[in-house]
Amino acid sequence: MSDFKNWWTKSTFFILLLLITISGTYGWGKEGHYATCKIAESFLSEEALKAVKELLPETAEGDLASVCSWPDEIKWMYKWRWTSELHYVDTPDFRCNYDYCRDCHDSSGVKDRCVTGAIYNYTEQLVTGYNASNSVVKYNLTEALMFLSHYIGDVHQPLHVSFTSDEGGNTIIVRWYKRKTNLHHVWDSDIIESAMKTFYDKDIDVMISAIQKNITDKWSNDISSWANCTSGEDVCPDPWASESIKCSCNYAYRNATPGSTLEDEYFLSRLPIVEMRLAQGGVRLAATLNRIFDPYPPVTQKLAYFGNIQRASHTI
Ligand SMILES: [Zn+2]
Repeated sequence: MSDFKNWWTKSTFFILLLLITISGTYGWGKEGHYATCKIAESFLSEEALKAVKELLPETAEGDLASVCSWPDEIKWMYKWRWTSELHYVDTPDFRCNYDYCRDCHDSSGVKDRCVTGAIYNYTEQLVTGYNASNSVVKYNLTEALMFLSHYIGDVHQPLHVSFTSDEGGNTIIVRWYKRKTNLHHVWDSDIIESAMKTFYDKDIDVMISAIQKNITDKWSNDISSWANCTSGEDVCPDPWASESIKCSCNYAYRNATPGSTLEDEYFLSRLPIVEMRLAQGGVRLAATLNRIFDPYPPVTQKLAYFGNIQRASHTI
């Protein structure tokens, strides 16, 4: 093999390896985001669904879930690199709490540049942009919808709101059964993938159906409190982030020290947490989009906001 060819092959290999390593670094994996958005779709009001479909890019073919990983796919491109710090929020080590004013900034200290700040920002863009009667507003609402849908998923992944020094578990090297990985990746993808293999026929749609069944059965009394913002705002990512850091401390970091091997005990006790966070992300994304695009629903639908879930239409 010529030197050049040899170099080229090696470089390509390392670039590929780097991309594979990087791609799992932030956010639920593809399956997690797909699940969050699929669950959300089933709770959208008619008006909100119509608005979402109007804004989706053509490639989505009317399916929000198909573009929910888009912000992960573009964040390494030069044009979009500024978005890569919007997928998470770092909190002080071992404090196990979150505070917007203290924590929501990027690595250079620029305020509001974190996942909760991004959720406020894109909600605001959609509210003002969608309801604007003139063309003064210049926001790209298609991008805003895709970013918002993705970041609401991210803020529910516990390790997206976690300690600064271990980069949300990225520097904690563990084994997932026999395979070497890191703790962040375990929560992004490994738990979900193992669950699909073990319980759900290797099919994400089967897993989503099981989560949806839990929402209407086991969690039916909780979903109105999940969906509501006590502040009365259109969106409320701060309490969602506080839940995530609590989950990180109580479940993700616990018994997952560097070098440990995580197996059945960890998998089976953490899977219900992952499934609940996917459910909460989906319900809250739908509730947020319903408030943005359908702020004045008919009275019958409005009742659903306060606990009378309309099971037939699943509108919240
Ligand atoms: Zn992400």
